[in-house]
Amino acid sequence: MTRQIVIGLEVHLQLLTKTKLFCSCSTDYIGHTPNTNVCPVCLAVPGTLPLLNDGAVALASRMGLGLRCTIQNYSTFGRKNYFYADLAKAYQITQYELPVATKGYLDIECDERTKRVRIHHLHLEEDAGKLVHPTADGRLTGAAYSLVDYNRGGVPLTEVVSEPDISTPEEAKEYVVRLRQLARYLDVSDGEMESGSLRVDANISLSNADGSLGTRVEIKNMNSLKALERALEYEISRQNKVLDSGGRIVQETRLWDDAEGVTRSMRNKETASDYRYYPEMDLAPIVIGDEEIEGYKAGMPELPWEKRERFAKSFGLSGEEVSILTEQKELAAYYEAVAAAGAPTARAANWVRMEVLRVLNELGQDISDFLVKPEALAELVTKIENRELSSTIGKEILDLLAREEMTLDQALERTGARAGRMSGDALGELIRRIMSEQPDVVETIKSGQDKKGAKLKFLQGLVMKEARGQADPKETAGLLSKFFAESTK
Ligand SMILES: [Zn+2]
Repeated sequence: MTRQIVIGLEVHLQLLTKTKLFCSCSTDYIGHTPNTNVCPVCLAVPGTLPLLNDGAVALASRMGLGLRCTIQNYSTFGRKNYFYADLAKAYQITQYELPVATKGYLDIECDERTKRVRIHHLHLEEDAGKLVHPTADGRLTGAAYSLVDYNRGGVPLTEVVSEPDISTPEEAKEYVVRLRQLARYLDVSDGEMESGSLRVDANISLSNADGSLGTRVEIKNMNSLKALERALEYEISRQNKVLDSGGRIVQETRLWDDAEGVTRSMRNKETASDYRYYPEMDLAPIVIGDEEIEGYKAGMPELPWEKRERFAKSFGLSGEEVSILTEQKELAAYYEAVAAAGAPTARAANWVRMEVLRVLNELGQDISDFLVKPEALAELVTKIENRELSSTIGKEILDLLAREEMTLDQALERTGARAGRMSGDALGELIRRIMSEQPDVVETIKSGQDKKGAKLKFLQGLVMKEARGQADPKETAGLLSKFFAESTK
């Protein structure tokens, strides 16, 4: 029987503040010596008090608005008690009863249709430290001892909790991709899964035979989008097998083991009462006035879906082109600058999403490091559009500009493109020379044996190569057929 898959995601985003949530330690903790980015507050020395970082409240509110949530005028902190070495206080300061933002949604695209995933709420909380379990072979289990590093302890997080509206692993992945894109557009979080600034916990259950909701299992420790998809696929098949054999699903937390491709039981899932939530009496409630909320709204940048719509409309681009160009707001801004510098929009779109991305990939760069100024690319693309340059030589010039600091003029000079396009008599001469160098091929074509035109294409390729991309393919093909027509008369 087919059971309905029900998935809800909890996404933790590390907020891009300079300092931690309740003290002035830096949030730039990666690569530091363990336990050096700490102070009495984040080490929970008795007698210290937390002081709320307003910047984190502002970022969480922005994210909440991006998710079309209602920002609450009044929200509170609580203590979530759990005794574990990565948490110095033995409780985490988090929002529980009254979170900062509630009831929103995020639309995702899957199988060419739009699906709305409702957001239950978004809350603020502090991150825990990090436990390191050193094992000789890097496995998850079997360490003889554990080490704790509190550098990350107290870094601000916002947790976005979805409703269980997600029905496939693919949708789950798409949801995280869109959420991450939104967080990046809003400068709320860098959203890097590898470094842990975006972490996903998944709750998954399969419906019972009578259609009622099944027991849910929480999966943790998925460090990439691929891992999220694989872990969910594995868990769906595991739960189906258990249910098919008449067993029952235990409510628990399971860890994804990426190397083995399995989830493993970690602990029975705690319920809210296990955490003994308790009001945080050391912190005043967060009060956000209507005026302040209006201020946040006014400061919102263009959101990804707004940019997609505008790009499609003003530049006349297809859905796929738009989604590639707007994936990163920095790339979108680059394309806009190329278009604004007068480049033909369709060809510029093509060049940015194919050639610019290719070069960035080859150089391992971000668009922010890209040496080619938008104005230079605009000029290059315009020359190609006007057939002053072939695409081949254009690519060569782009490669040069991206690797060395030089002007477009210097690059044209260097590639010899300055001399101009090869056409007319010069091109005719080159074609005749190549034909004389390939008598066998020419004979085959003349005798009508080149039915599929492969030999003719071969000749054309040789010409284009010799012309170093400066010949127009159409003109070359035209001249070739003309010469053959003349010679067979
Ligand atoms: Zn601190």
